[in-house]
Amino acid sequence: GTGLGGQGALMRADYQIDRHVRLLRCAGWLICALLGLAVVLAMAVLLSALGLLAMAHWGILRPVAALRAGMERIGAGDFTHLPRLQGSGDFHDLGQALQKMANELQARNTALAESEARFRQLSDASFEAIILHENGRITDANAAADRLMGVAPGGLVGTAMLSWVSPPFLERTIQRTTQGMEGVWEVDLQDTQGQTIPCECSVRRRQLDNRQVHVVAVRDIRTRLAAEAEIRQLAHFDALTGLSNRRSLLEQVVQELAAADLQPRRAALATININAFQSVNDSLGMAAGDVVLRTMARRLSALQGQGQTLARVDGDTFALLLCDLQGDLNQASAEAARTIERLLAAIAEPLEVQGQVLHLSAGAGVVMIPNDSRDAPELLREAETAMHRTKDAGDSRVYFFAHALQEAASERLALRSDLRRALEAKPAPLLLHYQPQVDSQGRLAGVEALVRWQDPRRGLVSPVHFIPEAEASGLIVPLGNWVLEEAATTLHRWQNDPACAAWATKLTMAVNVSARQFREADFISRIESLIARVGIDAFSLELELTESVLVDDLEATLEKMAQLRSHGVRFALDDCGTAYSSMAYLKRLPLDVLKIDRSFTMDIDAPEHSGQGKRPAVLIDAIVAMAHQLDLRVLAEGVETLAQQERLLRSGCDLFQGYRFSRPLPEAEFRAWAAAQQ
Ligand code: C2E
Ligand code: CA
Ligand code: CA
Repeated sequence: GTGLGGQGALMRADYQIDRHVRLLRCAGWLICALLGLAVVLAMAVLLSALGLLAMAHWGILRPVAALRAGMERIGAGDFTHLPRLQGSGDFHDLGQALQKMANELQARNTALAESEARFRQLSDASFEAIILHENGRITDANAAADRLMGVAPGGLVGTAMLSWVSPPFLERTIQRTTQGMEGVWEVDLQDTQGQTIPCECSVRRRQLDNRQVHVVAVRDIRTRLAAEAEIRQLAHFDALTGLSNRRSLLEQVVQELAAADLQPRRAALATININAFQSVNDSLGMAAGDVVLRTMARRLSALQGQGQTLARVDGDTFALLLCDLQGDLNQASAEAARTIERLLAAIAEPLEVQGQVLHLSAGAGVVMIPNDSRDAPELLREAETAMHRTKDAGDSRVYFFAHALQEAASERLALRSDLRRALEAKPAPLLLHYQPQVDSQGRLAGVEALVRWQDPRRGLVSPVHFIPEAEASGLIVPLGNWVLEEAATTLHRWQNDPACAAWATKLTMAVNVSARQFREADFISRIESLIARVGIDAFSLELELTESVLVDDLEATLEKMAQLRSHGVRFALDDCGTAYSSMAYLKRLPLDVLKIDRSFTMDIDAPEHSGQGKRPAVLIDAIVAMAHQLDLRVLAEGVETLAQQERLLRSGCDLFQGYRFSRPLPEAEFRAWAAAQQ
């Protein structure tokens, strides 16, 4: 054992050790293997990471960068050099889409550029300047605008719109701009040279990408204005002399008439005609005639003053309108005459034409403005009418158109309207004067009521002045009614006044009745009611009719007279012998008195065979004799002298009226006169 046993033990121990070593060795192998595996694994992970990285770079980052670069190119407007995207899949599709988009954009851009170019060509080709501005700052302008303002192409952009507006137009333009007004206005612009350009600007507001833009179309209207001026010149001026023509003169006259309506002012319209002008044309030819007219026009223009219009209205007729004449009508016409005489003197200066010295003259006619004519051509005709009087008279003077007639006509019109107002007033500013009529013994037999008009401006107006106007205007009817009423009332007062009873009870009150008044349909009833109302005796009323009443309608007059006569009203035939002098109808008329006109009385001292157009006293003798045969009493009017009275007495006149006895008197004076006669 020990050996063996020891050997055995040894052997066992060896074996044990061996086992351990082997175990250890195994463990070592295991660890080694494990380590190797770990390394391999780590390597594999590293390698795959690297592979992934490479894949990411090639497959994602590069295409994305290419895409970005492509987009940047497109953004920069470069559609041609786009990077290519290789391979297939999504990135390929993306690349294709990008390319397509780029192509489309390029096409659109080209179209846009083309259209813009076309538009600009169009806008540049336009004669009209087109300017766009935002808040007054020019953002765009076409070539015409650049040309108009005299700047290099594009030179307007960035400048202020208002800096191109001419100063006088600035204020209004600023106003319109600040109010953002749209419309068409005439505005003067000013170019870089400082030259003023009259323009017509049409302004429109437009919304452009949320911005307010003003589009201003500017049209240079210099040519148009020049053409207009030319037309005006042709339309208003005489081509031969350069003076105003007839039409333009008439326009001035119309304006003057309108001005005279608003305020009192005076003007004169004169026409001046060169005498024997036709003989210049005939002997020297039309060309010489034109020279004469032009020379005369120059001479007249040289004398033309302020407020005067000089015109050639017809072949050799010039006209002058003188406005703002000072003073009353007389002073104004004198001033006009002086001015026109200076013109006539200028025409009379010697004139050399074609080596011949001509001595021409001219005559003028003038009409004052305002006058009754309200019509400019009418006024020119009136001036020409007056001018023709110089031809008739064969002189070179200034003739006024019916100056006196014109004055009288306007005075008559004024009188008429004043009289109308007077008749409407209560009480009317009218009164009666009474002129006594006496018999052959000088005793008071009757009285004639004669109307007067107390006008504040004119004073006491004589019926000679206003009765004709009253008759012409129909005012005679209310006027006559007033007289009848007043005369009847006064007579009644006298007859009922004890102080007057001595002379008033048998007094006849003679009242003048105009033909127009007598023809009124209600004349008879008016007289009837007057007599009844006032309470006078019909016999004491004598109506004085003139022969004119009888002419119109003798039968109607006869009937009316007969009717009134049946009440007792008397009739006198006034102004006998002045109108028809036909005694034939006297027989038929229910007359009481025949009033021989004052003109017969005045002629009464004429010799029997008067060569001075006077009617001799024997004519009165005959009238009186005839009247007496008809049972008419004869009253002689206008007896002023004793001689007249005596001669009329011898003729057999029954009654007398005239200044020899008394002038027509106001009521109080007449009463005193009548009382003194008793
Ligand atoms: P008539 O009817 O012939 O009146 C007479 C006119 O002669 C009056 O003028 C009178 O003042 C004037 N007269 C009288 N005696 C003399 C004289 O001795 N010498 C001169 N030189 N003149 C004398 P009057 O008052 O100015 O009237 C003028 C005319 O007006 C009247 O002429 C008459 O036709 C008209 N008239 C006057 N009153 C009326 C009226 O009430 N109605 C109408 N219809 N006419 C009237
Ligand atoms: Ca009378
Ligand atoms: Ca008379």
